[in-house]
Amino acid sequence: MPLRALARVNLAAIERNVTRLKRDLTPGTELCAVVKADGYGHGAAPAAAAALAGGASWLAVATADEAAELRAAGISPRVLVMGAISDAELAPALAADADVVAWSEHFVSALAAHAERPVRVHVKLDSGMGRLGTRDAGEALHLAELIRVTPGLELAGAMTHFATADDDPAFMAVQLAAFAPIAADLRRRYPGIVVHAANSAATLRDPATHFDLVRCGIAIYGLDPMQEDPRARELEPALELHSYLAAVKATAPGQSAGYGRRFVAAGETWIATLPIGYGDGVRRAFSNNCEVLVAGRRYPLVGTVSMDNITIDLGPETDLEPGTPATIIGTDGGERQTAETLAHLIATINYEIVCGISRRVPRAYHRDGGPA
Ligand SMILES: *Cc1c(COP(=O)(O)O)cnc(C)c1O
Repeated sequence: MPLRALARVNLAAIERNVTRLKRDLTPGTELCAVVKADGYGHGAAPAAAAALAGGASWLAVATADEAAELRAAGISPRVLVMGAISDAELAPALAADADVVAWSEHFVSALAAHAERPVRVHVKLDSGMGRLGTRDAGEALHLAELIRVTPGLELAGAMTHFATADDDPAFMAVQLAAFAPIAADLRRRYPGIVVHAANSAATLRDPATHFDLVRCGIAIYGLDPMQEDPRARELEPALELHSYLAAVKATAPGQSAGYGRRFVAAGETWIATLPIGYGDGVRRAFSNNCEVLVAGRRYPLVGTVSMDNITIDLGPETDLEPGTPATIIGTDGGERQTAETLAHLIATINYEIVCGISRRVPRAYHRDGGPA
């Protein structure tokens, strides 16, 4: 019997996506693979290893614990913790030998107090994201110098982050114009630093954002940052989400399926129950609102998504038997369903679809169908 829910992850696809992204980088630019949130649901350590095999030379995560997890898996290249680090998270971040990001004197002092070996620090300018970083160019320059002169600290980089690389290139250009002269100034003063700004969308959209390093997350998993079909940008989705038909039963007119009776059969039909639900990451908003692929055809999900089950309508005549595999994300025969399509149906983004696949779903790693 198939597993009730299974995420199959093709590590060779991640490797190829990284190689494909690197192909279009400005010569000399390196690629940092972003593997936060458990590698966008794909598994951080396996995704990191595949990205490194594909040519990534840096890794980035959001939290200290995520950096520690990579080190525990024996992964040794540079790991940048991009997020805010509280006092409590400082020790694990430094124990993981992570690069960290600073935008305040307070944090620089805390770092200096904890540093037991040289800590590599990236100064962050907020050029328009309005989240982390200093908005003040003068302060960014001041912090860079403070980091340089503080024993135990090393100025490793200067960075910013785009708010609209996926959907508003005009504002991305405004941010780039704010960041570029400050980056140039810092590079003049500190020639060895690594300047970085681009996420996946910026990397694909504009080589002027590449600088020394690009920080690509979503695209390394073969998902499209602009929410279009990944094929259009030669990206190859690495993850498929599967379940199977656990029960197939005849349903008479007036009989319903699922909580709240939000599907009531209009005529004779066959309803299949798949043992996967919102507890696995199949969002409840898909109730009466998506399709599932079975034996190379698409069938509507009917009724309410439960925590552990969904129901699909196989129609009045079916030869599908219990045990038949089903695909929620991926390909089945000639049919294909992407994370982008699913995201669009419930007004979210592919990032949230894959990050939402819960811990209850085992990940099975392979390389183009063969052993991982
Ligand atoms: C998550 C993140 C990225 C990667 O973004 P993608 O859109 O997934 O490529 C890059 N930089 C920062 C600061 C991030 O938080």
